[in-house]
Amino acid sequence: MLIVQKYGGTSVGDLDRIENVAKRVAKTKDRGDDVVVVVSAMSGETNKLISYANHFSTNPSPREMDILLSSGERVTSALLAIALKEMGYDAVALTGRQAGIITDSIHTKARIEEIDTSKMRENLNEGKIVIVAGFQGITKNGMVTTLGRGGSDLSAVAIAGALKADLCEIYTDVDGVYTTDPRIVPNAKKIDKISYDEMLEFASLGAKVLQNRSVELAKKLNVNLVTRSSFNDNEGTLITKEENIMEKPVVSGIALDKNQARITLRGVSDKPGIAAKIFTTLADANINVDMIIQNVGEDGSTNLGFTVPENEFDRAKEIMLDLNASKNLEFDKDIAKVSIVGVGMKSHSGVAAKAFETLAAENINIEMISTSEIKISMVVKEKYSELAVRSLHDAYELDK
Ligand code: ADP
Ligand code: ASP
Ligand code: MG
Repeated sequence: MLIVQKYGGTSVGDLDRIENVAKRVAKTKDRGDDVVVVVSAMSGETNKLISYANHFSTNPSPREMDILLSSGERVTSALLAIALKEMGYDAVALTGRQAGIITDSIHTKARIEEIDTSKMRENLNEGKIVIVAGFQGITKNGMVTTLGRGGSDLSAVAIAGALKADLCEIYTDVDGVYTTDPRIVPNAKKIDKISYDEMLEFASLGAKVLQNRSVELAKKLNVNLVTRSSFNDNEGTLITKEENIMEKPVVSGIALDKNQARITLRGVSDKPGIAAKIFTTLADANINVDMIIQNVGEDGSTNLGFTVPENEFDRAKEIMLDLNASKNLEFDKDIAKVSIVGVGMKSHSGVAAKAFETLAAENINIEMISTSEIKISMVVKEKYSELAVRSLHDAYELDK
């Protein structure tokens, strides 16, 4: 078998943990499997590098940020290869470029366009353990890029797809995907199997256990994806096609995204083209707008509110001030998005009503709502968001 194993930041968080990972990788190799390992930077490292850049600039150039941030993953890939060699295994560390990860040129959140697997294959054919620095690639013009926060998951899935690996294992610091973040709700339950679509909603809505683009790609390329812990041998969560899952609960879980901010424009003139202008400008700046609310207009004007990821908030704010579409702008970083996810919702009514009642009973005001076939998202004040998650988790009896 060919297995791609990805180890996240906590799993390689210090030298002992890198040694632990080396032992796990060695065990896989001893079993007779070929293995490609994708590593993250040591936990906290990427944030540390960002804070270094912010010491000099509030708006550091994305090109230089990519050179800076990609270094974290290079460190762990080299250390893991050194540790494995010392244990008597033939291992080789590759940077994103050496591994052939070709991306577009959107610095700090590049997309993988193709993977030239020749170098990885060559090394695998020589019996080597291939260790790839995650989260990074190279443009056709030779610029270093990174893939967005949590992007090592994407590296792993893309490599698994390109090499047609039998399995892609994402090793992290929890046993798998839970009904909600087990750090917020200690009695959350581990999910044994979850569909690509549900997992994609979960990940897009803030459950950072898997990066959303990695799930999207896994679905597209039909990659067998498992998340599990690097600290024990418990069975993890299998992410698979919906038809492989027998039991489909109405609600599978609750996601929380605190990395949200809202911009409200009051008194926008209520005529065709205004929304187009605002959202085209934001899209051109590569800002991901999420929820949008427009109120019923009065006196030829209307109110427009939308949310963006918190790390894109400063740029979005600047753009809105420049655009001058409304004299009355409000900016709010203290919001969070709480979402209920479940494919079973397609055929059940009353799920949303229960959510609204549950939050009302806790006196939590819902400031925005958006729904799809398989999710309900609500914006609430950030300070009440964990309480909201806990009470919803109870209300849908997800601990049972
Ligand atoms: P890594 O560094 O291994 O990539 P991350 O920190 O990115 O790990 O993701 C793992 C974390 O995701 C867990 O520690 C947990 O707090 C969080 N998490 C959020 N939602 C969930 C969920 N539904 N199931 C499991 N973990 C979750
Ligand atoms: N080190 C990067 C981050 O912290 C990528 C990753 O860990 O997946 O976002
Ligand atoms: Mg992660």
